[in-house]
Amino acid sequence: MSAYDDDNIFAKIMRGEIPCVKVYEDDKVFAFMDIMPRSDGHTLVIPKAKARNLLDISPDDLADLMTAVQKIAKAAMAGMGADGITLQQFSEAAGGQEVFHIHFHVVPRWSDVRMRPPASAMADVEDLKKHAEKINTAL
Ligand code: AMP
Repeated sequence: MSAYDDDNIFAKIMRGEIPCVKVYEDDKVFAFMDIMPRSDGHTLVIPKAKARNLLDISPDDLADLMTAVQKIAKAAMAGMGADGITLQQFSEAAGGQEVFHIHFHVVPRWSDVRMRPPASAMADVEDLKKHAEKINTAL
């Protein structure tokens, strides 16, 4: 497995070098809207710790990350009025990973509404801001 690359796009987002629509941040984690959401409110939750994926993150950092994932999932349920949550995590290219800073996808779901296909469309930033505010308000 390759080493962690400090120039991956999510590291740049956390450093403020690339814009994002932020949902939440504390000393351990950062959460922001996926730019090609599979559903309204699709949020990415990442650790500030440098880890490529599930295979190299330390157990302590993973515990902090999962605590934040649960917090965001509950806020997405409440804020977005969702019926359920789909959680996704891809490790290594063969596992479907495209950005090599570990992240969990928190995807709000509604009964009888299918997830949009991967990478189907870039979201309108104003829509992302509205969804981020709804989730943030429910935190
Ligand atoms: P994966 O590594 O397969 O979990 O996929 C990476 C995810 O990051 C995809 O869902 C992309 O839509 C998302 N993504 C890529 N670039 C950005 C970005 N600049 N801002 C927000 N989300 C992004």
